[in-house]
Amino acid sequence: MSVMRSVLLAISENRWMRERGPRLWFVKRAARKFMPGEAFDDMLRAADELRPLGIDAVFTRLGENVADAAEAAAVTSHYVAVLDAIASRGIRCEPSIKLTQFGLDLGTEQAYRNLRALAERSHATGNYLWIDMEQTSYVDVTLELTRRLKAEFPRVGVCLQAYLYRTAKDLEALIEQGIGVRLVKGAYKEPPALAYPKKADVDENFFKLSVTMLEGLGRKDGFRAVFGTHDAGLIARIRAHAERAGLAARDVEVHMLYGIQRGEQGRLIKEGAIVRVLIAYGAYWFPWYMRRLAERPANVWFVARSMFAR
Ligand SMILES: Cc1cc2nc3c(=O)[nH]c(=O)nc-3n(C[C@H](O)[C@H](O)[C@H](O)COP(=O)(O)OP(=O)(O)OC[C@H]3O[C@@H](n4cnc5c(N)ncnc54)[C@H](O)[C@@H]3O)c2cc1C
Repeated sequence: MSVMRSVLLAISENRWMRERGPRLWFVKRAARKFMPGEAFDDMLRAADELRPLGIDAVFTRLGENVADAAEAAAVTSHYVAVLDAIASRGIRCEPSIKLTQFGLDLGTEQAYRNLRALAERSHATGNYLWIDMEQTSYVDVTLELTRRLKAEFPRVGVCLQAYLYRTAKDLEALIEQGIGVRLVKGAYKEPPALAYPKKADVDENFFKLSVTMLEGLGRKDGFRAVFGTHDAGLIARIRAHAERAGLAARDVEVHMLYGIQRGEQGRLIKEGAIVRVLIAYGAYWFPWYMRRLAERPANVWFVARSMFAR
């Protein structure tokens, strides 16, 4: 892991910086590259703009490690209201949430109650619920709560991280259970005992896991394969493999983050793949934004430039 990436990930988890970082106006300005605004309406506007391009959305209200039960309940109510607003406007926009935003640090059952309330409304409005994957200490509990949810609600998916050694095993189990998987490389700082330290190994594992996911498509009802990456070379490899396996272009569903690889998104749509863009909004954007910088340290220059831009 590069020094810059390590430093940025350490900043993302530092409580002092989490409080003060968002007050730096030039950081706030630079973060706009990856999020259309802090308000729910900003997210809806961005989703509306993507629709004519054939791109549906996934949305997330930024927040993590909520340490107050009332706040976790308020987050849940917010998402429930958003699901209703989306259903009434007929927008195709799927929620993606973090369990620590739903109160996981306060207790598993508390978080599950909130999660279940959201899943109920997601199901009632015909939507699909995605659960993000956070640091390794949360992986077991995230998978456990996802399975519990799936027993009641059919349209549920969870994120898996290709940098973890354990993911091949987790993936097999999720395919068998018919739970959707959004595969990503992994955004947190993890020790070499648990995660591949070299990027090339993460990329190769991502491809191997993608092959398993494409095979899983025909194997189990309810399993949905999503590739959450901006890596054009990797996506081309996955699409070529899908074609050789006799799958249709639409069987490859790619999710990207708002503001990254727009050209590639258009190209994939033209070639028949499904593309969704994850749009983030909310006031608690600092740790999330630091992880975006860590993914591409060249983005730090963008922050520096925004200090001088008018
Ligand atoms: C839809 C979606 C959901 C995600 N959910 C989670 C989650 O729940 N848990 C989790 O741990 N991680 C999550 N991630 C983040 C993921 O783990 C990676 O950190 C992130 O996607 C960068 O990896 P990459 O696959 O794009 O490949 P990389 O090899 O990092 O990047 C490939 C290319 O994409 C472009 N690119 C990548 N990142 C950036 C950036 N920040 N700014 C500008 N260009 C960039 C560059 O051109 C780069 O060369 C999610 C990512 C996506 C797209």
